[in-house]
Amino acid sequence: MPVKKIVVCMLLLVLCLCAGCGEQSDVKKSDIVLDTAVTLTARGEDAQAAIDESMARLRNIDNMVNPNVPASDVNKLAQNAGTGKWVALQPETFKMLVVAQDYARKTNGAFDVTTKPLVDLWGIGTDHAKVPTPAELSEAQKKVGWQKLELDEGTQSARLLQKGMGVDLGGVAKGFAVDEVRKIYARYGIKDGLINLGASSMYALGVNQEGTAWRIGLRHPRKEDAQEKMAILPLTNEALSTSGDYERFFEAGGIRYHHIIDPRTGWPAKSGAMSVTIVAADTVEDGGMLTDILTTAVFVLGPEQGARFLRGQDGIEGAVTDGRYQLWTTGDLAKELVDVSPDFHFWQESGEGL
Ligand code: AMP
Ligand code: MG
Repeated sequence: MPVKKIVVCMLLLVLCLCAGCGEQSDVKKSDIVLDTAVTLTARGEDAQAAIDESMARLRNIDNMVNPNVPASDVNKLAQNAGTGKWVALQPETFKMLVVAQDYARKTNGAFDVTTKPLVDLWGIGTDHAKVPTPAELSEAQKKVGWQKLELDEGTQSARLLQKGMGVDLGGVAKGFAVDEVRKIYARYGIKDGLINLGASSMYALGVNQEGTAWRIGLRHPRKEDAQEKMAILPLTNEALSTSGDYERFFEAGGIRYHHIIDPRTGWPAKSGAMSVTIVAADTVEDGGMLTDILTTAVFVLGPEQGARFLRGQDGIEGAVTDGRYQLWTTGDLAKELVDVSPDFHFWQESGEGL
């Protein structure tokens, strides 16, 4: 064989060996689902299949909770509000409502999916956002109240007791969806990957391509550039959600009106919080959904009350930034956060922190 041919053959052999024994690389796919820029990353033999099935599942959940889909569960509930009729729901929607009602009870109504009439009235994030009149506010507030949402376990149905009521799963569905994707990843044997629903709810499995924990950037709540971080949190086999007053808001007369409404006042929550991040260990059942619910709940409760509430939740830890650039943390988060922006300082209680 001529030398040239031998060299080519050897080169080919080396290339083949490399491809066979090489590290698996991440498969990644992005799409807009649940009103969010979703990016799914997975590593493993069946990564592509896991991601394709997950994207389909996300669209399927979207169809249940999207008010713009005429046959969605949330629309059926709103259409039948005040008629006394029970509405049979998909098991997914029913489950979200059961957990949402549990947290409405636990937070004394700070978290309340029936806040929809107020969310619609303020229209934050839409092209008709405005500060409502006191009359409009009190009218909308009459149609809000988690005690007026009834659930029937036996028939997996629900009903809203008053005409004009509605449910808004904007503070639940993304976290629920993260848990569902996680189940699909498990079925396909995916051990490493990142389920990222617009940075607002995510789950990190195993390690990144470099073999270390996934590095999640927590956005700086007062920098316009979304790339500017308040801190980095290494995450592995944990769920994380973040809510902030910078996500959807408008400003009028120097006041920031954002999308997290305090159902008890009818106004965007003025609790002192700018952003809330919650982390759940993988031992926490429905961890994705819980972190999503808790970010909204803690935002409404505010740093002090919110941190106190979080300390009673097993496997859950949180970080809250307030308007004085203090960083309130529970659990081990103070130790786990890295590259914390010098703009922030940890809140201290009697020198011990929370
Ligand atoms: P998040 O981005 O997770 O904080 O969820 C905020 C979304 O939840 C809003 O865009 C509304 O759709 C909805 N929402 C607003 N205020 C509340 C509240 N107090 N309780 C439950 N859901 C809310
Ligand atoms: Mg949330």
